[in-house]
Amino acid sequence: MKNGRLQIKDISTLAVLQHLYSRHIGGMCWSTWCKGSDNSIDVAMGFPDLPDNLVRAKMKSLIQKGLVSGCYCGCRGDYEIQPDGIEWLKKETALGRNKNCIEDQK
Ligand SMILES: [Zn+2]
Repeated sequence: MKNGRLQIKDISTLAVLQHLYSRHIGGMCWSTWCKGSDNSIDVAMGFPDLPDNLVRAKMKSLIQKGLVSGCYCGCRGDYEIQPDGIEWLKKETALGRNKNCIEDQK
């Protein structure tokens, strides 16, 4: 958050990748930045009324990292999780479990 405005880093990569992964394993189609559809990616981002350009900028950063496939030119996007994104998710959720698990800290 900067000057009261949301930034890319305020949007959870984990939430976005989890959303895309659940669609991937559910055999559902790509997601889009366009709002109001059942495959709208902004619902995973956790903020109401996100500006479209911020949604696309977040997806652009994930595409450039190779975690997600798709396009950020302004077309519908066709976002899908990539093998690197699934790996990222596995590492992140395994770490999260360890951090929160009292048994692991003994
Ligand atoms: Zn495009």
